Amino acid sequence: MAEPFTLDDYRSIIRGGLDLGYEFATFDSPHTGPLAEGVIYLRHDVDRTPEGAALLARLAAEEGVRGTFFFLLRTESYNVATRRCVDIIRQISGAGHAVGLHFNHLEHPTPSDESERVRQIQKEARLLADVTGAGISCFSMHNPDDSLRIDVPGFINAYAPRFFDDALYISDSNRKWKPVHPLEGLSPKHAGVVQILIHPEWHGSNFDSERQALIHHVVSVAGRVMDEDNAQNRALQERPLSFSEIADSLSRLDP
Ligand SMILES: [Zn+2]
Repeated sequence: MAEPFTLDDYRSIIRGGLDLGYEFATFDSPHTGPLAEGVIYLRHDVDRTPEGAALLARLAAEEGVRGTFFFLLRTESYNVATRRCVDIIRQISGAGHAVGLHFNHLEHPTPSDESERVRQIQKEARLLADVTGAGISCFSMHNPDDSLRIDVPGFINAYAPRFFDDALYISDSNRKWKPVHPLEGLSPKHAGVVQILIHPEWHGSNFDSERQALIHHVVSVAGRVMDEDNAQNRALQERPLSFSEIADSLSRLDP
């Protein structure tokens, strides 16, 4: 078995599913009717790294399968309206994958009733479609609250009972496979629905721990902000900021 959380491991999960006769389906056009074999929904919640998502999307396409990539509209980790992200989303959907909304309820006031939450999700999905040009017809919840299984007209919820309560649900949240690694969970006997949730930030960079991956993420975001300022601020074009200057300045701050 490949080292967990490497690109080889991601590839072996897909190949393992194919070898066992599973079909792969996406949340925007889910499998309907009786199931002769098992169906895998390969779900990617893009919490931190659009580049990581693009890498996994390329790999899955090379293996001939389609997955679903859910993007946040509201996060400090990336801006879905930037040219960089729009290009990545175009590449992902161009490779045949589905794109959906990853809904962050913490960025909204607590709704007074369920219909208000429904409107929040519909509005975010429309905004995501507008800024990215992607067709959005499915969503998944980020840090879910009690509206996890909410029914939103016109959209498919990745936590609907048929994909979650009635399915084999395997997740890599906090960089730990639960309940088991997908290759241990998949089985020729399991002719039902399997949902495998993947967070691209854990995969493919040979991190030793969740903490190391998170540090790498924070440094990447800081690097992007620095690159943007260096490119667009006239004073910095003459003398660009560098990480060593920033580190030096941080070391002089009071703890
Ligand atoms: Zn999330």
